[in-house]
Amino acid sequence: MSIINEGAVSCTKCGNRNTIQVYRSINVAENPELKQKVMDGSLFLWECPHCGQVNLARYETLYHDPLKKLMVWLMPEGEISETQMQAITMHTRAMGGYTLRKVSDMGSLMEKVLIHEAGLDDVVIEMCKYVTKMEMIAKITGKEQQEKLLATPFHFYKCQGEDEGRYLTLMYPSDGTMSGVNIGWNVYQDCLGILSRNPHIRPEDGFASVDSEFLEHFLK
Ligand SMILES: [Zn+2]
Repeated sequence: MSIINEGAVSCTKCGNRNTIQVYRSINVAENPELKQKVMDGSLFLWECPHCGQVNLARYETLYHDPLKKLMVWLMPEGEISETQMQAITMHTRAMGGYTLRKVSDMGSLMEKVLIHEAGLDDVVIEMCKYVTKMEMIAKITGKEQQEKLLATPFHFYKCQGEDEGRYLTLMYPSDGTMSGVNIGWNVYQDCLGILSRNPHIRPEDGFASVDSEFLEHFLK
């Protein structure tokens, strides 16, 4: 079920205290309207009534889509719910077919839901990001620029087109704005192939972090 409380927060601009809705758990079968708000990030934004500043709320939440069997635990750094995680892991294992993920920021929760909604595999997406980044790095000169790009986070944004004509858009910050790079469906298929030939590249059981660090661990 969805658990919605009220919480006190301070505006990052004027410091005034406000009360906002805090979504401790989000069940999108019960509250389908919340799915879109997670996918566009608006669920965690609140506007200060005193100065108009739009703030990002940071708190722990569990996103659950029972129909698509996806659970994503958004856990800002420093918060631990190991006991609860283990209990839920056991429970979902009994039901079978669940994807369980752990993320530490709102953007990553958004991304996990977008990937799952597009019917894609987030492990394959991490591989696509890596391959794309390496191709982009090979085209630029200067060690400093290359290292800067290597450290840049890439996020899945959307998948468009039909069948073999599909393409994916990845977004990344570049000189203060967001840039996009499109990759063909063949890249996704190639990465899927690499992963099926390397079955040891697999997330741990339970709520796993699948991000660039996860992949780097296997590529070292
Ligand atoms: Zn304010």
